[in-house]
Amino acid sequence: EIHVSHMAKTFGDVKVLNDIDFDVQDGEFFTLLGPSGCGKSTTLNCIAGLEDPTEGVISIGERTLVDRAQRVYVPTEERNLGMVFQSYALWPHMTIRKNLAFPLNIRRTARADRDVRIREALEKVGLAHLQDRYPHQLSGGQQQRVALARALVYSPSVLLLDEPLSNLDAKLREQARAWLKRLQADLGITTLYVTHDQDEALTLSDRIAVMFDGVMTQVGTPHEIYEHPATAAVAAFVGSCN
Ligand code: ATP
Ligand code: MG
Repeated sequence: EIHVSHMAKTFGDVKVLNDIDFDVQDGEFFTLLGPSGCGKSTTLNCIAGLEDPTEGVISIGERTLVDRAQRVYVPTEERNLGMVFQSYALWPHMTIRKNLAFPLNIRRTARADRDVRIREALEKVGLAHLQDRYPHQLSGGQQQRVALARALVYSPSVLLLDEPLSNLDAKLREQARAWLKRLQADLGITTLYVTHDQDEALTLSDRIAVMFDGVMTQVGTPHEIYEHPATAAVAAFVGSCN
């Protein structure tokens, strides 16, 4: 479903992504794992349309989003992606309902349809009863679920999640992980996840791509990555002992 080939990204004269190639299958939970600064967010941002890759092709399904050689570039609001970022900022001056209505208003969704979508999205994350509250009246974990509901409210074909659990404390993060995994499996939505936490990657993912320094070093199932790390660096990073 998501297809990335020969993607490169340069900031000034620093190459932060180097010939990135990967495919995410329909319904798959695919994780980019690697240390801080290796290029995970940049990869996600290029797919989201928040950054413009210097080279390469990105497509979703049959649709080409970016093809530098052919001068194809679909703007971010036309990509039909749901996104949650590390800081999952909800608008503090808007109720939960209004936070979810916002992306629908941008897409000119009809009012009746809007109310149904908001309710359904909040039901998916188990928070329909809190729609009239403001973000500061929710716990961190609840805010994080609202951010996910906001990403789901216009039924995107793909979900892009950049360290969405990193603002939670360790205990909440464990709960949120289990809950996120269930939700993803129930919805069957193609998910590209970013984390530097190897445990999180190993427990959540169908497949993992390990990145160092703008290069994808290994792609495989958690079992393959853990039991058969391709390099000493991968072994050290995922904590396998050989
Ligand atoms: P983290 O785990 O810390 O979030 P990351 O893997 O997401 O790291 P990126 O944010 O993709 O890393 O950054 C990759 C490299 O690109 C870093 O060296 C970063 O400083 C650099 N970089 C990112 N965005 C820009 C930018 N807009 N301008 C210049 N350099 C940038
Ligand atoms: Mg990042």
